[in-house]
Amino acid sequence: MKAIVKVKNLIFSYEEDTKNVINNLSAEIYNGEWITIVGSNGSGKSTFIRLLNGLLLKNDGEIIIDNLVLTNNNISKIRSSIGMVFQNPDNQFVGATVENDIAFGLENKGIEYEKMHEIVDEVLTKVNMTEFKLKEPSQLSGGQKQRIAIASTIALKPNILILDEATSMLDPKGRDDVIKLIKKMHVEEKMTVISISHDINEILLSDRVFVMEEGKIAFVGTPNELFNKSSSELKKYGLMLPFTSELKEKLKNFDIEVSDKYQTEEELLKWLKLLN
Ligand code: ADP
Repeated sequence: MKAIVKVKNLIFSYEEDTKNVINNLSAEIYNGEWITIVGSNGSGKSTFIRLLNGLLLKNDGEIIIDNLVLTNNNISKIRSSIGMVFQNPDNQFVGATVENDIAFGLENKGIEYEKMHEIVDEVLTKVNMTEFKLKEPSQLSGGQKQRIAIASTIALKPNILILDEATSMLDPKGRDDVIKLIKKMHVEEKMTVISISHDINEILLSDRVFVMEEGKIAFVGTPNELFNKSSSELKKYGLMLPFTSELKEKLKNFDIEVSDKYQTEEELLKWLKLLN
């Protein structure tokens, strides 16, 4: 499989002679993969993704995006292939209406007027927000705002979508809607998704999980592999054991073994029903 992101021995500190916040980190992300990055507060997750698109500049090591080694000279080219969505939906709007907001980035790219309208309608359909086209962003719920932030981002056709805790400030419904949308982008648009999140449902849907500890990737594996770890280890990573894993641990006490293939609540409930 082709790696769309390659990071080799990356080192970064915010100031000279201070501790390395990113400490010899190496990683590969494959084209079309959905990666969730987890890790306790301060482990370097946000710093890492900001280095990927040149918002922060490395001290040492190498970042290769789509076969292009990131240098001072090609930051803007690399940035155009990466879309970023941040935690606070309120800080991301530049337009007075949803339509203006999505059009803003397209205008900056010099897209002609007619084509711009076409793209705005196309992405609004994708995020299922067409009826909100003329609304002011302030009238939207948190989940709707994040869906528009994603629409504005994907309108620019990035190869990679990076989300920095994009669902953490949302209510359960908003979170669910945004996760469904991320899944859609991943499956239908074949977009590479890199998402910092501690949401269990999101982690379970992703292809692989990176666990960060002290500026390094301490664990790489599938969600199943991650959740087979003990609850104390998961706690160390800033994660809670998902309800299904907790139930499995309890069932084990009654000598009931549940196969690893049942990970979601729905799968587990179906299996329990079959037992009767
Ligand atoms: P995470 O996203 O995992 O919570 P961060 O990448 O935000 O971690 O932070 C990693 C470390 O870098 C922390 O110790 C944090 O205090 C420090 N840090 C983050 N931003 C800055 C900054 N702008 N200036 C100095 N130190 C920072």
